[in-house]
Amino acid sequence: MDEPLRQFVFERAQRICEYCRLPDEFDPLPFCVDHIIAQQHQGPTAEFNLAASCFSCNSSKGPNIAGVDPDTGQLTRLFHPRRDIWAEHFHWNGPTVCGLTAIGRVTLYVLDINDPVRIEHRRLLIEEGVFPLKRL
Ligand SMILES: [Zn+2]
Repeated sequence: MDEPLRQFVFERAQRICEYCRLPDEFDPLPFCVDHIIAQQHQGPTAEFNLAASCFSCNSSKGPNIAGVDPDTGQLTRLFHPRRDIWAEHFHWNGPTVCGLTAIGRVTLYVLDINDPVRIEHRRLLIEEGVFPLKRL
């Protein structure tokens, strides 16, 4: 992937993970450009199929494009940052992200967004008064 495209994806996302909303400035690990539909599933390297992602979301997501809703057992696609609106699928409960829809719940589960270490990281950022960002 060329550098101008990488920069475009990060700038479009305001340097915030498009899944868990963590700003890259607070992540000790390098941010990634995520293929929303993985290359393994013929997802192209094109603006409409790319999202800024923290390392944790990206590595948990891998090539997944769906998961099983823990509430209903139904196969459900993952959140699509280019087509879906974050606030329609997720909301904050302190440092924990809650799923409002099957898509939200599956995405939280597959991407391990509420891993205890990640919740603790967000709790500390909230305590410092730097998270979530005012612009979110
Ligand atoms: Zn993330």
